[in-house]
Amino acid sequence: MELHDENSFKIRNYQSALNNIDRNDISVIDKNVDQLQSEAGMGKSIAEFVFFLATTGTHPYLEELLAKTPSGILEILEIKGLGPKKVKALWEDLNITSTHELLEACQSGQVAIAKGFGEKTQVSILASLQFREANQGKWLYADIEDMVHELTTNIKGLKGVKDITAVGDFGRKLEIIETVECLVSTENQREAMSEFSGLKNLEQDKKSSSPFKWSGKIIEPQVNLTIHFARPSHFVEEKIVRTGTKAHLLHLAEGEKTMIEVLRENPQITSENEFYKKAGLPWIPEELREGYIEFDLAKAGKIPQLLEDKDLKGILHNHSTYSDGKHTLRQMAEYCKELGYEYLGISDHSRAAFYAGGLEIEKVQKQHLEIDQLNKELAPFRIFKGIESDILTEGSLDYPDEVLAGFDFIVSSIHSNLGMDRKKATSRLLNAIANPYTTILGHPTGRLLLRREGYPIDHKVIIDACAIHNVVIEINANPWRLDLDWRWVNYAMEKGVMLSINPDAHEMEGYADMKYGVIAGRKGGLTKDMTFNARSANEIEKYFQDRKSKIK
Ligand SMILES: [Zn+2]
Ligand SMILES: [Zn+2]
Repeated sequence: MELHDENSFKIRNYQSALNNIDRNDISVIDKNVDQLQSEAGMGKSIAEFVFFLATTGTHPYLEELLAKTPSGILEILEIKGLGPKKVKALWEDLNITSTHELLEACQSGQVAIAKGFGEKTQVSILASLQFREANQGKWLYADIEDMVHELTTNIKGLKGVKDITAVGDFGRKLEIIETVECLVSTENQREAMSEFSGLKNLEQDKKSSSPFKWSGKIIEPQVNLTIHFARPSHFVEEKIVRTGTKAHLLHLAEGEKTMIEVLRENPQITSENEFYKKAGLPWIPEELREGYIEFDLAKAGKIPQLLEDKDLKGILHNHSTYSDGKHTLRQMAEYCKELGYEYLGISDHSRAAFYAGGLEIEKVQKQHLEIDQLNKELAPFRIFKGIESDILTEGSLDYPDEVLAGFDFIVSSIHSNLGMDRKKATSRLLNAIANPYTTILGHPTGRLLLRREGYPIDHKVIIDACAIHNVVIEINANPWRLDLDWRWVNYAMEKGVMLSINPDAHEMEGYADMKYGVIAGRKGGLTKDMTFNARSANEIEKYFQDRKSKIK
């Protein structure tokens, strides 16, 4: 509507209806026009529009707008930092109607000189376009996990299919997936493959398929899919070959032979256990087969000590309705208790994060009173008083010391002015780490996987400083973040830095993300004893108290 100069009053009405639906999580599917008006607070004409849209999947007005909008313009609208006004200007002034034309215009410097843009905007559009291109067709593991499991269950039910398992990046639960790979066990490959055509959600790419491999995609959501086949007698062998990375398979095992050589000498192996035993190793879980840290862990006998979901005793770094969370403090606490955890660390946004409802000092005090009350009621369950303090531009925290002293723990995170170079970002973090009130360093790079690159930091310097100042680093378990990256977990542990699996939950359901943090931790070799929130409520409480007592 903004692109086509619709009445601004009308635009605002639609916008506020959308915000209302979003914010209050209103289901519009099963409501009639009257209910939409009364329960979702919509005006009559918008309620009618929504009802039509919800029942038919489209609307003549929407179709009319889409008909006069080039599809490339819709793609450009998805680019970060380009609102409808700017997109309209690109379209009208520079005649740009596709991301490809936009890329060319940036490269030739046309965008920089266009009215309302400038050099800096051009650089950031270019970076967004390149980032977007590099991430085309990629998915977060978490976003396709359930769908892939459903697919493999369906395939398992097909005629001639004896077994199926995920292999490749998905089998190793890598955070970003470009192609889902599966391995099917069958006596009759041809028969099994022909059965696939009965699966509705798959589309084969005949050109890249072969008699030995089904290649194509899942249609909704659109994910690349490759299915390999093996005879049952070679299924385990193939699974090992197709799951481990090159670095894993080429690792020198016992007797100066690589893993793959050991495997080829035992092609009809019947279990992974048996294979790893032949290689002089304990069984290595799939997610660890990166060729990264697994062999050191295996030799040191540490595989059984790796963190598991059940080891986590409490949940730190969560938001409530005090700032930008969806559920109240009480709901967050009661649900956490119900799930069997011993404690909840609440850490709403601090006052500088005004856009996220950051807490003014009076509101902090009010929250503390409510926590005291809930702690009496829910005992022995405990809520710890925390805050997610913004790290300000120069690296200081967001409240005066006397207020900071009132918290049990503080997660310090950067949320603003993200466009920093490595030197600036590192020094900003170093200042925050050196602040004695910082308990946990939150999402160290600020990255959002597939959406934006984090600011560049000197990981070693940051981790070393956390070791010196006794600061815990979080593995933010939100699948978009997974920050600290698992590739730095081992270095942190070597330096004696503990890691905390924090869901950064903004609603009760957010606790479920902890499992992605556990996967990331395990990939990096995280052990239970180096996991901060694998400690009991009593241990954590003592830790917070001891730490605070040392502040001069
Ligand atoms: Zn944050
Ligand atoms: Zn947060």
